[in-house]
Amino acid sequence: MSTEVVAVSAVSAEQQQSPSAPAQQNAVEKVNLLGMSRPQMEKFFEDMGEKKFRAGQVMKWIHQFFVTDFAEMTNISGKLREKLEKICEIKAPEVVHKNYSKDGTRKWVFRVGDGEGSLVETVLIPAEHRSGLRCTLCISSQVGCALDCSFCSTGKQGFQRDLNQAEIIGQLWMANYSYMEDVPVLERERSVTNVVMMGMGEPLLNYDAVLNSMRTMLDDFAYGMSKRRVTLSTSGVVPKIDQMVKDIDVALAISLHAPNDELRNKLVPINKKYPLEQLIAACKRYIEKDGNESSRKHVTIEYVMLDGVNDHPEHAQQMIKLLKNLPSKINLIPFNPFPHAPYGRSSRNRIISFQKTLSDAGFVCTIRQTRGDDIDAACGQLVGQVADRTRRAEQWKKKVAQQNEILRSQG
Ligand code: SAH
Ligand code: SF4
Repeated sequence: MSTEVVAVSAVSAEQQQSPSAPAQQNAVEKVNLLGMSRPQMEKFFEDMGEKKFRAGQVMKWIHQFFVTDFAEMTNISGKLREKLEKICEIKAPEVVHKNYSKDGTRKWVFRVGDGEGSLVETVLIPAEHRSGLRCTLCISSQVGCALDCSFCSTGKQGFQRDLNQAEIIGQLWMANYSYMEDVPVLERERSVTNVVMMGMGEPLLNYDAVLNSMRTMLDDFAYGMSKRRVTLSTSGVVPKIDQMVKDIDVALAISLHAPNDELRNKLVPINKKYPLEQLIAACKRYIEKDGNESSRKHVTIEYVMLDGVNDHPEHAQQMIKLLKNLPSKINLIPFNPFPHAPYGRSSRNRIISFQKTLSDAGFVCTIRQTRGDDIDAACGQLVGQVADRTRRAEQWKKKVAQQNEILRSQG
């Protein structure tokens, strides 16, 4: 697959360091409306002495017509538009790279702060589906991740900070806008049909911002997405799963990756805090909450296939026992290697026979297609060109250097 690479960082990076920058810093910071959920925006308008229905109108302009200039909001009075112009802005995070693959996959790298390491990535994967074209966007929720799963390149970067709502929704806004840039405002449509919170970071550890962003995804005044088409993926922050069940109805994916505590403690360290028994119990509580009407008919189980580590027939048997009473769909993910990764990808045969064991036991079990490899868009490679500056990254580099040294001395 060949790709068209468009670097757009140069101008904005220079502007940031231009002599006029200090003057800009002194200017009053404008309120960014991009990330506000409807209740938040309604309150904002009311506090300004305006009617709260204005929030819905403005949200439609932002999220359905991808307008960033208040002057284009033609159903809002000139006076209010002027007022908004003075104190507000609609600002997506800065795109430093975009990369569009010929197979339709698109990737963006966003700068979300100063410094080399403050970058996050977003990937869009279109695919034909029986219900039509599906456009799935993989969204990041944090810069780096504190949980340090042993097979994950984001984990190796360490944790830097949570993304705010504008930075989370900004990824969805930008992906939709990328198809509509040249379309007249009133003819614009939304292209992204599905969202998976499976980019960088653990979404349940940035709970409020992720919750409000998902509310905006479902809101008819914004993206109006189906609750079955917004999926939150977690490595298993049990109390927050329960909180989410109370707060919002979206699909849930669990990064399981191991069918017993001993192995899972090694691969997904948060398992030491919330072991499998607690995690499976939380999944059952999620399903039991009005399971028939909602998106909560099943839990998606993600299982990365690591060669010789978690892909033995006995692991498949343990999975069958573990998931026996949990309505679930299993998605086997071929491991995506990254430089110095301590694992390899299970062979195709191994993955297929693992799948067969689970299917024969009555589970719906699919193998994830690896797409966008040519632009590092594959799951788990979201770290891409992100610079790793944290201590853990330093320790990791040292460890790799030591290992290389040992290998060299062994000839
Ligand atoms: N923190 C959340 C969401 C982000 S990770 C979670 O862990 O669920 C999204 C998915 O990518 C998870 O299932 C994760 O385990 C998987 N993943 C991480 N690194 C990977 C790699 N190198 N190869 C394949 N999948 C990987
Ligand atoms: Fe964090 Fe998820 Fe990566 Fe684990 S797999 S380190 S939870 S991003």
